[in-house]
Amino acid sequence: MQKIYDLAIIGAGPAGIASAVESVLLGVEDVIIFEKGDNHSTTIRNYYKDEKRVDKNWRGAEVQIDGNILFADGTKESTIEFFGELIDKHDVESKFNVGIDFVKKEGDIFEITTERGEKFYSKFVIIAIGVMGKPNKPSYKIPPSISDIVNFNPNSCRSGEKLLVVGGGDSALEYAYMLSATNDVTISYRQSSFSRASEQNIDILNRYTKEGKIVQKIGVDIDYIADCDGKVEVFFFDKSSEVFDRMVLAIGGASPADFLRKCGIELDENETPITEENLQSSVEGLFIAGDIIAKKGGSIVVGLNHAFKIVNRIKELTRTT
Ligand SMILES: Cc1cc2nc3c(=O)[nH]c(=O)nc-3n(C[C@H](O)[C@H](O)[C@H](O)COP(=O)(O)OP(=O)(O)OC[C@H]3O[C@@H](n4cnc5c(N)ncnc54)[C@H](O)[C@@H]3O)c2cc1C
Repeated sequence: MQKIYDLAIIGAGPAGIASAVESVLLGVEDVIIFEKGDNHSTTIRNYYKDEKRVDKNWRGAEVQIDGNILFADGTKESTIEFFGELIDKHDVESKFNVGIDFVKKEGDIFEITTERGEKFYSKFVIIAIGVMGKPNKPSYKIPPSISDIVNFNPNSCRSGEKLLVVGGGDSALEYAYMLSATNDVTISYRQSSFSRASEQNIDILNRYTKEGKIVQKIGVDIDYIADCDGKVEVFFFDKSSEVFDRMVLAIGGASPADFLRKCGIELDENETPITEENLQSSVEGLFIAGDIIAKKGGSIVVGLNHAFKIVNRIKELTRTT
């Protein structure tokens, strides 16, 4: 007989970890968390630049914490440590290097199938897999010969390289001004102002631009890119072009729609799961937390609040069954 968990959580980012910890604190027993990466918080590890400032009030999103996890401003490193300590302190059963392929409801129980074909069983499931497993792709083709210098995060950047950061959100601005300490950086954004980013990041970017540390190429989109002797040549729609050692595309992530469909979850026209007020999906007992459901853009606190709301609902449902 296979064990039946009370709750299985897919994804050990902020929303998944918070779901596990709130479950322990609110008395939902037998909880397991599955994470595709070899450790928790893959998005933070892979997409935040080292020493990045981590804001509780990110992108002007909600800052009020509803639940028990008292997250505060910090850095990439302190945030990873904070979530790691939460997992350890609350003794959460975690399976790393276990990507989930899909979840299927059989009667009252969910069958959870891993990418390696193993099966686990649970009464409730929370999907908290974020959107950065599927970063948005640009409309132009990336020639295979330069795919190693056209990146979706700044981890491969080496100091001294001439860089083009593409995007107009907070991630792009933060990459640009942090990289400018060691690199010649241009930021490219198709809109003529950075209205999507926080005022704080826009101020820093504008100050660095005035000081000559960053060049802004805004109000014009990229037409195509080409291999120029192992570097990337970028052609803009205004007919200008420039050669860079590396390009960092910070253009966000997309809903993991295929995964959600495979689990039988109904999606809206934007490929966002349709949920009830308590974040239950169209499949009874299957809840969605974090970035994949954050309509106005996610943040760590948004994920923590989703977790608290869902676990309270699961607690209510377990009381009545
Ligand atoms: C560059 C950048 C800077 C940011 N700065 C801030 C900031 O300062 N403050 C702030 O509040 N927010 C910030 N954010 C946003 C914040 O990181 C996200 O809102 C938050 O990480 C979302 O949490 P999540 O748990 O929903 O998803 P994620 O953090 O994306 O976690 C999802 C987890 O699920 C795992 N996973 C994916 N697929 C599977 C699968 N099939 N099976 C098992 N596991 C799976 C992933 O490996 C990952 O660990 C930033 C984001 C970026 C990209």
